[in-house]
Amino acid sequence: MLGHVHPDGDVLGTLLGLGLAMEAAGWSVTLAGPHAVPESLAFLPGSERWQVWKQAPRTYDMIVLTDCPNDERTEGLLAATRTPNSAVLNVDHHPDNRRYGTLDWIDPTAAATGEMVYDLIRALDLPVTPAIAINLFTAIHTDTGSFRYSNTTARTFRIASELTAFGAEPALVSDWLYQRRPADALRMLGEVLRRVRVSADGDVAWLAVPHGLATDAFVSAEDLVTYPRSIGGVKVAVLLREEGSGIVKVSLRGKDEVPVNRIAHRFGGGGHENAAGCTVRGTLDEATAAVLAAVGLALEAKA
Ligand code: AMP
Ligand code: MN
Ligand code: MN
Repeated sequence: MLGHVHPDGDVLGTLLGLGLAMEAAGWSVTLAGPHAVPESLAFLPGSERWQVWKQAPRTYDMIVLTDCPNDERTEGLLAATRTPNSAVLNVDHHPDNRRYGTLDWIDPTAAATGEMVYDLIRALDLPVTPAIAINLFTAIHTDTGSFRYSNTTARTFRIASELTAFGAEPALVSDWLYQRRPADALRMLGEVLRRVRVSADGDVAWLAVPHGLATDAFVSAEDLVTYPRSIGGVKVAVLLREEGSGIVKVSLRGKDEVPVNRIAHRFGGGGHENAAGCTVRGTLDEATAAVLAAVGLALEAKA
C-alpha cells in the first residue's frame, strides 16, 4: 500500500482501510510512503504501522496506490518497487490521473477515493471492521470538507451512513480532526489570518504565509486555505506557503466558477476542478504575483 507525498486523510484512510481488509483476506501487507503520518491523523487505526521510505527496500508482487494521480507523487517509490511482473492497482478520483497502473480505476465523480474503496471492499465481500470504517469515514470526511463541498452527493451520505453503522463514530472523528489543537495554535491562527487579502472586485482571496511565521506543524495541521475560501462572493481562494529555500507551495480552491486545476497545471501541478495545488519556485512575493496573474486570466477567460 503505497502513499503519495504529504499524506492526507483520503490517501491514508483508503490505504489503511483497504490494507486491513486485504490482510483479513490473507494478504501480507506493507504500508509506506515518502512522508510521515501527520500528527492530526495519527488516530487512524493501523497508522502506527506506516513506514517512511526515502528509498524502497525491495520490489513487490502487488502495489496498491489510492488517491495518487501520477508516479511523481510517490517521489520515485512506485518506480523502485515495481517490476515488469508487478500488479499495480491504481484507484483514484483525480481527473488528471495518468493511468500508470496495470489496472486503473478512475472515477472523478467520487468525492473521495474513500467512496471507491468502500464500494470495492463491499463488492469483494470483505468484512468492514470498526477500524476499517473509521479509516474510510475519515477519508470521505476530509476530502468533502466535513460534507460541505460541492463534491458531496447522495452517494457520499449513503456510504457515510453505512460506515457509521459499521462502527465509525462521526463525533469521535471530528474531535480527533478539529478539537485537539495545541494551545498556541489559536495565537498563530490570529497572526496568520491578519494576512488574508481580497482583490478589489472581491473575486479572489489569498493568504501568503512567510516561512517562520508559524511552526511547520501548525501550517500542515491547519487547512488554512479554508479561511480565504470562506469569504462571501470569493470565486477562487489561494494559499501560498513559503517553504524556505525558494520553494512556495500553493493550494487553490474554487467554487464551481473556474476549474482551478487548469491554473495548477500551468505551474506543473494538478488536482480537482475545485481543489488543486502546485509548487512554484521563487520568493513568496514572486510566487504570489505569478499565481494571482494566472487566476486573473482564468477568471477573465470565464467572463
Ligand atoms: P492541497 O491544496 O495540498 O490540499 O491539494 C489539493 C489537491 O491538489 C489534491 O487533490 C492534490 O492531489 C492536488 N495537488 C496539490 N499539490 C499538487 C502538486 N504539486 N502536483 C499535483 N497535484 C497537486
Ligand atoms: Mn490526497
Ligand atoms: Mn482524494
